[in-house]
Amino acid sequence: MRKYGIEVAAGVVPVLLVFLYMLGINVIPFVFLVVIGGAVFYTARGRGKLTAVSSGKKRTEVAASNFTFDQIGGQHRAKQELIEALDFLVKREQIAKLGIRPLKGILLAGPPGTGKTLLAKAAAQYTDSVYLAASGSEFVEMYVGVGAGRIRDLFQEARTKAKKNGKSSAVIFIDEIEVIGGKRDGGQHREYDQTLNQLLTEMDGIHANELPRILLIAATNRKEMLDPALLRPGRFDRHIGVELPDKKGRLHILQIHAKNKPLAEGINLDRIAEQTYQFSGAQLESVMNEAAIYAMRDSAGAITVKHLTSAIDKVMLGEETDRESTAEERKRVALHELGHAIMAELVRPGSVSQVALSPRGGALGYVRHQPQQEQYLYTKSFLNGQIKITLGGAAAEEMFYGERSTGSRGDFEQAVNIVKMLVESGLTEMGIVDASMMTPDKWAEVSNGTLNEQMAETKEMLEKSRAVFEHALDILLREETLDGSEFRELMRQVSAA
Ligand code: ATP
Repeated sequence: MRKYGIEVAAGVVPVLLVFLYMLGINVIPFVFLVVIGGAVFYTARGRGKLTAVSSGKKRTEVAASNFTFDQIGGQHRAKQELIEALDFLVKREQIAKLGIRPLKGILLAGPPGTGKTLLAKAAAQYTDSVYLAASGSEFVEMYVGVGAGRIRDLFQEARTKAKKNGKSSAVIFIDEIEVIGGKRDGGQHREYDQTLNQLLTEMDGIHANELPRILLIAATNRKEMLDPALLRPGRFDRHIGVELPDKKGRLHILQIHAKNKPLAEGINLDRIAEQTYQFSGAQLESVMNEAAIYAMRDSAGAITVKHLTSAIDKVMLGEETDRESTAEERKRVALHELGHAIMAELVRPGSVSQVALSPRGGALGYVRHQPQQEQYLYTKSFLNGQIKITLGGAAAEEMFYGERSTGSRGDFEQAVNIVKMLVESGLTEMGIVDASMMTPDKWAEVSNGTLNEQMAETKEMLEKSRAVFEHALDILLREETLDGSEFRELMRQVSAA
């Protein structure tokens, strides 16, 4: 009945007003009252409704977390730092005896898909806490005060849930904290400011001896955007970097996600870890999952190397598409990819693993490179070599057609990023400079200069390999793929002839 109350009132009130008017009564004050009453009711209902949603399932994901640190691959240092921080919560008496200020907030910062959410879940399990999760974007509303209300509700809900479940602590995880915790600009975004203020107030309200204890864990991909007020001592004062996994970490993650999947005999996950340089945990999980899907498509009983290789390609470049291209387009793409491959072999012999002429994701062809030794420092000559490999496709098109196509857009983006790295590391003619002080014109001049110089050298080197293009083109058009070792043999034979 309550459900229809508003509709009934909306019908009855105007009828009543008309009736009173017909009786000759002055209804203007009533109309006023109704309008004001309606407005107040509407606002209150809006607030109430949003709050109701906010405390319901939609906003927070509450789970009795039984996810442990053992189920997280790699991230050895992040796990260790987090466990150390959590011991503040676990060893409560010791902390109180020493008069240590309680830890209120931990910030996990790092690229997407590296396991920040998993770490927060494991933290809840480790500290035997209830776990509540929310995302920064869920607190953003047009109406001033709604986000702040939701924050208040979230903390209240954490306390209630902990008490109900007989736990002495609660872990609140807020993903994408930068959405509400971005630097305040003191004007434009009053709603954001109020939400952040409320979060700060709630954090200030966490006391050592209060039960249940609340620990806030926040995650961000953009730590530099956060308001300093959030990062000061007593707020999120523990910062833990959650980086992309190294080879050992990748192997561990692959092993975790391979546990429930049948692998064909002789599969070496170590090799897959090598080939997935710079993949995040989420991408590695996807590789294992996609490989299983390929195995199912083949009606195979187990995942083979071929399935895993296809899965890596899919995660890296996108799904194979059946985009029909014209014969002329195929020839141009083949020459473009050969340009990359020849340059790669000239700059780094033995580095090509496969040249393919099949459309995948947004690309019409691609070159797969052999996994390289993990590397964190690059020299100028290494980066210039990388630019040459990237420009090889466009250079080949110019050699054979006299002009380039739109197919090199992605390559140029990569090349410009490498130039940026060169400039920021003081590896250009300009020497050591503050790149942020450079004018757009200066940027254009430097990147143009570097890319033109590298392009000229690339063309010169490719020109000497014209015969390789001619021999490899037919095979690539016919077979659609050229294996790395086949390609190297062909290069060797042609240059010996
Ligand atoms: P985002 O910043 O995008 O929110 P995130 O860092 O919170 O990402 P998670 O949500 O924790 O990433 O990870 C996504 C998925 O990727 C997980 O469900 C898991 O399957 C996989 N994953 C990521 N990192 C790891 C890891 N270290 N070990 C095992 N699995 C992982």
